[in-house]
Amino acid sequence: MAHTIDDLPLAHGRAGTRRVLRVHRFGTPGARPKAYIQAGLHADETPGHLVAQHLLAALKGLDAAGAVTGEVVLVPVANPIGLDQIVLQSLSGRFELATGVNFNRSYADLSGVVADAVRGRLCGDTAADVALVRQELRRAAEALPAATQADALRRALLTLALDADLMLDLHCDFDAVMHLYTAPGLWEGFRDLAARLGCEAAFLADQSGGHPFDEACSGVWWRLRERLGTDADALPVACAATTIELRGQLAVDDATAARDAAAILEHLRHRGMLAGDPGPAPAPRCGATPLAGVDRVAAPEAGIVLFRVALGDRVEPGQVVAEILEPESGIRHPCRARVAGPVWTRHLNRFVGAGEGVLSIAGTEPLAAPGTPLLTA
Ligand SMILES: [Zn+2]
Repeated sequence: MAHTIDDLPLAHGRAGTRRVLRVHRFGTPGARPKAYIQAGLHADETPGHLVAQHLLAALKGLDAAGAVTGEVVLVPVANPIGLDQIVLQSLSGRFELATGVNFNRSYADLSGVVADAVRGRLCGDTAADVALVRQELRRAAEALPAATQADALRRALLTLALDADLMLDLHCDFDAVMHLYTAPGLWEGFRDLAARLGCEAAFLADQSGGHPFDEACSGVWWRLRERLGTDADALPVACAATTIELRGQLAVDDATAARDAAAILEHLRHRGMLAGDPGPAPAPRCGATPLAGVDRVAAPEAGIVLFRVALGDRVEPGQVVAEILEPESGIRHPCRARVAGPVWTRHLNRFVGAGEGVLSIAGTEPLAAPGTPLLTA
């Protein structure tokens, strides 16, 4: 099957403007397993845009050679709205400027609509039941209301991704080691990907808060199961979704992106979307830890940030990891770790306000109370 390109128009453009979502498809439409990969949902996270370009070039060659045995759908620019948000010379692609809403939040939970649609129609044959649920998921996604262009984008992305066996959402942090987010029940399947990417942290949560894209794709399956009162044998989680954080915003170079793309393609071989032997994964560089165990170290006062630890350093409870220097008084405030673990992200700003996070540590035990939103804004 030849590589195809669709430009999906996004509704609600203003006069004189027209935005489209460009979708690349490889393999045979409808073939299984299906992988869906998108980059740049936060439009100011350029590493994903570059990795997607390397994936695109490789997939063209693989498709021409007949090596795409399932289907691969790639959206290299998942947020053309955010990519157009230049504020005083800076790209501001995380929040929609019109509303302040994070582009990776507020995705619909379709479990209620789909539960109503499939109740009494599941036959007990797992493959047939999964196919029925996928069909109803697509239908429900297509029917989502979209009063704004940002919601039209959310609807388009969900419709493309919801019926995939594997969903990879490519992001990055401010200044970070390679890491990923997924659900506890999906971690076993993602150990291979984490090892191939060289992840130094992997964060697990069933519900991070705020309804991010990955949880809309995978979580709908276990929420559906709860609504229908079925168990995992009868209805598996048929979409393994993860958010991959390709280090920090400045980690943009061809050699690194080529390695990351190669790791992702090996994982697609491992999962059966591509032909060939992926070879053994390298030794993992981390285990998974609860997202609720992240120690987000905040500044006690506004001031200059002076880090005392580097990315990837292992720290101990009580250790001073940064100082905040108040520039008027000259007072220095120590910021201490509460947990043992690696420092996995640091803020890019070197002057912060009181209460702002300056760095985060991957602890192994939950710190946050159940129900607390676990992601940053
Ligand atoms: Zn992001």
